[in-house]
Amino acid sequence: MNVYDSVQMAKVLKLNNYELVDSFSVADLIIVNTCAIREKAVQKLYSFLGRLSPLKKKKPHLKVVVAGCVAQQQGAKLIDRFSQVDIVLGTHAINLLPDLPQRIEKNPQPIIEIEMSEKILETAPSAIAITRKKEVNGFVTIMRGCDNYCTYCVVPYVRGRETSRKPESIIGEIQMLVQSGIKEITLLGQNVNSYGVKEKMTSFPELLSMVNDIEGLERIRFVTSHPKDLSDQLVASFGSLSKVCNHIHLPVQSGSNHILKKMNRKYTRETYLERVDKLRAVSAGIGITTDFIVGFPGETDDDFDETIRLIEAVQYDSVFAFEYSDRPEAPAARFSDKIDSDVKHQRLQRLFKLQKEITRKKHQSLIGHTFSVLIEGASKNQLKNKSTSATIELSGRTSENRIVNFNAAADWRIDIDSIKGQTVVVKINKAFSNSLFGVLLNDQLENLITEGDHSYVA
Ligand code: SAH
Ligand code: SF4
Repeated sequence: MNVYDSVQMAKVLKLNNYELVDSFSVADLIIVNTCAIREKAVQKLYSFLGRLSPLKKKKPHLKVVVAGCVAQQQGAKLIDRFSQVDIVLGTHAINLLPDLPQRIEKNPQPIIEIEMSEKILETAPSAIAITRKKEVNGFVTIMRGCDNYCTYCVVPYVRGRETSRKPESIIGEIQMLVQSGIKEITLLGQNVNSYGVKEKMTSFPELLSMVNDIEGLERIRFVTSHPKDLSDQLVASFGSLSKVCNHIHLPVQSGSNHILKKMNRKYTRETYLERVDKLRAVSAGIGITTDFIVGFPGETDDDFDETIRLIEAVQYDSVFAFEYSDRPEAPAARFSDKIDSDVKHQRLQRLFKLQKEITRKKHQSLIGHTFSVLIEGASKNQLKNKSTSATIELSGRTSENRIVNFNAAADWRIDIDSIKGQTVVVKINKAFSNSLFGVLLNDQLENLITEGDHSYVA
């Protein structure tokens, strides 16, 4: 969501004659788009602002903006604490951004814009590209805010009430992205399953079906699905809509009913497991990923064992897991029975160790299978080593969201941009902990190269 907001900021600035530059030292305006979800993210902002201080002394005309959730959360406190900050831009104020530097020039006072509006300020969908790099994946926010009030979470306080965007506006934005070459769209919201419910408009499965009809779009993903609102209709969409990827991120947070209740998640481990079964019945081999918080206040060893048993039962493809951290606005900050940080740390390590083994086995079992892979560019290995060898390692993802790398172009130099966004069939022959490796089937490589426009030199 922050990436999407950063792109929106870059777009509104570009429309107002600003240009992206490559380094801080030549910038006239630096925007730090922040996240407040965990304490660690906030600490990162503070140390980054510290590093900007000498630059600001050298270049007094430089304007520093803190945007996003920490801006919303702390408002004027940021200006009091960091004299290098000129503008605090809340989560509902992106559209105001272009005018603010001039406003400061005229009246040299720090600006704080943190008013929250119930209405979504629609940034007009814009086809403007902010870099010349070819992109394959695009993000589109379909709703903002959250009304769920999980007791650990700061989102409802910094992003405001849940509000869904109009379907026409979402479809218009996706069409523009597709025209610019995007093949895969990720629809974003804190709880996409409740899209449109409050406004009594199009439901999420209906929206998915409209997006599925967009010509030229190849893949649809979405985050995040709240398990309490995962309807049978949405489960059915995995089977009936051809572009919806075979993957769901379904954050469970804990395997213990006692902790789920204290978190105000409004489902039990039993109903969660039922929904996982339904998904697997509709869409065989669906990739399932999740989020966990370990060490929530009052989490006993037995509660954590329930989490471990849930992981064993579901056999996730991968998990994100975090040590619980107090967020001052959220009620859990005032809960008793806080968990010792060593215990949180040990639990997190135990969880990761188990998941690593599950992922390893899953990946191993995929050797010999073939998958359609949407090419995203050179692999991380390739970029790191900048190999000059005759082969180039490309990278893409399967519908299940697994990273697949493969070699191409035994004796060609390829213009990577010309093959990004193409889908190829790859047979897996090696498994690693975070990715798979395979070979291109048939003579697809030949097609890849000849289809591209001036895409290679011999
Ligand atoms: N809307 C999504 C979650 C968004 S926040 C949902 O309901 O699933 C992303 C993840 O951050 C959460 O799933 C949770 O695992 C983690 N998280 C949120 N608040 C946290 C906190 N106070 N401490 C640790 N992790 C937290
Ligand atoms: Fe936070 Fe819960 Fe809303 Fe997700 S659903 S953003 S965890 S309050």
